[in-house]
Order: sequence, then C-alpha cells, then structure tokens
Amino acid sequence: MASRVESLLAHVREHAENRPGVYRMFGPSGELLYVGKSVRVRTRLLSYFRADEREKAAEIISHAHKVEWEYTASEFAALLHEFRLIKAQRPLYNVEHKRDRGHCFIHLTREAVPRLRVVARANGESGDYFGPFHGRDSLTEVVRAVSDLLELRDCPADTPMRLADQFQLFPVEQEPLCMRGQLSRCLAPCAGRCTHAEYHARVVQARAFLEGTSDTPLTLLRERMALAARRLQFEYAAELRDRAERLELMRGWIVELGRTLKQLSFVYTVPGHGGEDRTYVVRRGSVRDELPAPGSSEEHAALEARAREIFERPEPETLGLRAHEAQEVMLIARWFRLHPEELERTRPAKQLLAPPGTSTSTP
Ligand code: SF4
Repeated sequence: MASRVESLLAHVREHAENRPGVYRMFGPSGELLYVGKSVRVRTRLLSYFRADEREKAAEIISHAHKVEWEYTASEFAALLHEFRLIKAQRPLYNVEHKRDRGHCFIHLTREAVPRLRVVARANGESGDYFGPFHGRDSLTEVVRAVSDLLELRDCPADTPMRLADQFQLFPVEQEPLCMRGQLSRCLAPCAGRCTHAEYHARVVQARAFLEGTSDTPLTLLRERMALAARRLQFEYAAELRDRAERLELMRGWIVELGRTLKQLSFVYTVPGHGGEDRTYVVRRGSVRDELPAPGSSEEHAALEARAREIFERPEPETLGLRAHEAQEVMLIARWFRLHPEELERTRPAKQLLAPPGTSTSTP
C-alpha cells in the first residue's frame, strides 16, 4: 500500500498545479471514491498525503488507486463542476453532500393521495420541495399542524387508500385506519370518507400556503381559536394560539425565501484563470447558461439577448422546487453568503429587463 500511495504522491508532485479545479479519486476497480474541489488543486491534493490517519482524507487516500484532476476557470466554476459530478456519479465518500447538512425541506409527495413530509434532503423522490429551512423539530410541528388543519393524510406511503369515488367490486363500510381519521384530523381517504376531488382541493390549499399565496391554514386556525374562546375553552385556545404563532413564523420564512429566490436572478461574470472569464446566467438560484464573458459589443448584445430569453421565459414564480433545483439553489445562495463581495459582479435580471431609461436598484 505504501508504494501505491507514494507513487500517487509522486504523480501529484510532478504534475499538479496550484490552480482552481476539481479532483477525483478512484478505487481498485476504477470506482469513483471521492470528488473534491479546490482553489489550489496541488496544495489540496498534497494535504491528503499529510492527513492524520483518523481523518477522512487519510482513509480516502489509503483506498485510492488513481487520482485525476482537471482545472477550471475559477473557484465558482470548480464549485459548480464538483456539484454536478457528485450529483451525477454519487461517489462513495460524497454520499451525503456536506453542504446539505443542517437544512431540511417540506416535501409534497406526488402520490395518488399526496402527503406533506419533512425530509433532510431534496433527494430526487418525485414531488415538490419547499425550503430549505432550518430547525427540523419546529418544521415538523408546523407541517403536522398544516396537515391537521387541512386534514391531509400523514400515514406511510404503502397505506392502502380507498377513496369514495374509487370503483370497488364489493363495497364495504370501513373505519379510518388511524386515530387522525376518527378525530377529524384527516379526511380519511383510507376509509372512503372523501372523493379524490375533495382531497385534491386540500392539497391545492397546502401548496398555495407553502408557495406563500394563501393563508387558509392560518385562517382556519384563527377561526378555531375564536370559537374556543367563545366556548371558554381557554387552555385549548392558548394551544391554538401557540400553533398559530409557529405557522406565522413559517410564513415569515416562506416570504424570506421567496425574496431570496427573486434576488438570485442575475448575470454573473467571474474573472477566470489566465483571462478565461465566464458569464453565468442565474435564474431563481440555478445556473441556466454559461458563456465566455463578452468582450466586443456584438458579444455583449448576444449575451443580453440570451439573458432576456432566459429571464422572460414563463415560469411559475413560486417556492416549489424540484429536487435538483433545491440543491443548486442552496449551493448558489451559500456561495454569495460566503462571498458577498461577489454580488458586485452581478447584474440583476430586473435591470436587464427594465425598459431603457428606467433606473433600478441592485439587490
Ligand atoms: S385516517 Fe387513514 S388516510 Fe388518514 S392518516 Fe390515518 S390511516 Fe392515513
């Protein structure tokens, strides 16, 4: 093993340069073990050979049989390339993308009878993802409250459903399969207590709330609070008030997220190594196109036309994100959070789309 690691070290010493790039480590059968990026590839790769044996880097290099790297125009380009490689190839040691930790999402499943769930990652299961949010416990409580108020199911995916308008050869009366159905906290599609259309109407309300376009769950909660107070059920009214506060908090997050997504629409020009400058067209936190930075006036006009085409393409301006979008939004948002000075290199979409002569402020 020592001679294998030594020959990898010699290879890195001889060939790697201190430039931004992405590196890959392969195992004995050519399987991809790890993808990483660095603004200084040589220094980063050499650090693997000095790692303490308890560190992950030492473990990876001890299994590596081949190391490859490619240079990118900038650190931002390396970040994007690393992200796309990890997503496409899911290397063994990158199984959990480190930047996803600490966040969670609300997942509106795409099942015949959908549910709301809190998930740690937007991991590709079909449906819409809302977030990212911080604070899994409080988010779980809020999602439970929304599910209860709109009477959505929260049972496992394989729970048999029996909607009222579903054809059945031998119709039988059935009790809801859990207490939520009996306590009117679920429409009980498992027991034929609602039709597909009735259930779907509640899903539409849940989606609208998560997209920030409706307040239905809050309105329902306030009505119940008022009713509880009229009936002198003060303890229950106080419980509902706490629940309403959590929902209000979530609504605040949703509004904030919507604002962030809107701000993440711009044209971003990044100076590259050796003059290899690149321009990225970013809409709602995801890179929609990447081009060489324009030099001549014709190239500027071409870029502007391309950016307009991307920004003007009709798209729902909602918070619901597909799995692949959610991860990229987090990546881009994190980049600008860590490097706020980079915003100086952006040109907001609203500036590009403004009629000539209109003045706009930057995000
Ligand atoms: S009542 Fe039925 S559909 Fe509703 S959560 Fe319980 S098991 Fe699921």
